[in-house]
Amino acid sequence: MTNPSRRHRPVQTMDAHHPRALFPALAAPDSRPTIGILALQGDVREHSLALEAAGARPVVVRSAADLGDAPGDRLDGLVIPGGESTTMSTLLVAFDMLAPLRELIGAGLPAYGSCAGMIMLADRVEGAQEGQAFLGGIDMTVRRNAFGRQVDSYEEDLIAPALGAERERPLRAVFIRAPWVEEVGPGVEILATTRAGRAAGVGGADGGRIVAVRQGALLATSFHPEVGSDHRVHDVFVSMVTRRA
Ligand code: GLN
Repeated sequence: MTNPSRRHRPVQTMDAHHPRALFPALAAPDSRPTIGILALQGDVREHSLALEAAGARPVVVRSAADLGDAPGDRLDGLVIPGGESTTMSTLLVAFDMLAPLRELIGAGLPAYGSCAGMIMLADRVEGAQEGQAFLGGIDMTVRRNAFGRQVDSYEEDLIAPALGAERERPLRAVFIRAPWVEEVGPGVEILATTRAGRAAGVGGADGGRIVAVRQGALLATSFHPEVGSDHRVHDVFVSMVTRRA
């Protein structure tokens, strides 16, 4: 029989000098908020790394069971990543997750949607596929593929103090077949608008389009802050979660 103390000797030898090694039960519990990432489709890994960097404990959500009602499994927040909102809708319905998610969001679960995730959190969607189901929650109208179908990808340095992006250190925003927000209800905070919209041929009369919003515990961005190593949007979401947890 293998002697476990022999097998683990190198670790024990190193840890023996550390007082906690003698009292493993006293090791600090994980105090990070648990944030689920809806992983039916879309860029899950990037959000996981960004959430970790922002001080959260990311977990993957693939089924209604992963939404966690058991103590210890409870989610403190949820990220709905980018991808394709029509596919996401179909899968949410197929996996019986639409109703439980709507219920959790309605009950105040903090959620952050980027790109397709923003579309999922909108109360009204222009350019939706017939019969497409949404989670809703934010009193806004979102237009799918608003930057133009031919514009696959568009980037801009955003100045958005509410997201920690001041003039000296703007936020590089990457839009991929992205939606924008056409209009918001009175309870919705506008966190970022495009500046160079007109130059890119996508602007309205004022040149700016709404691309980041917050209503209560819900946050949404048209762009993908999980690409790259700038985690300011995830920092904002993690602090929204921490305040409520
Ligand atoms: N165009 C996609 C949709 O409508 C969103 C694109 C994205 O999430 N990058 O769902």
